[in-house]
Amino acid sequence: MTTNERPKRKHIACGDVVAGCAFTASAEDDQELIAKVAEHAAHDHGVEHVTPELAEKVKAAIRTA
Ligand SMILES: [Zn+2]
Repeated sequence: MTTNERPKRKHIACGDVVAGCAFTASAEDDQELIAKVAEHAAHDHGVEHVTPELAEKVKAAIRTA
């Protein structure tokens, strides 16, 4: 364990998956981040179910800062 290493956060821009969307989110791991995106997608894009295909697109758009 190192003490001077910043905890890494994962970031996503929905606009990388859905053109024109300004939503962004960050979380400590992929699962939490995908859950946030899924919630946003349900509210703003009418996506009721995240398909494996969509999950792959989301994963591909995740950036680690
Ligand atoms: Zn969006």
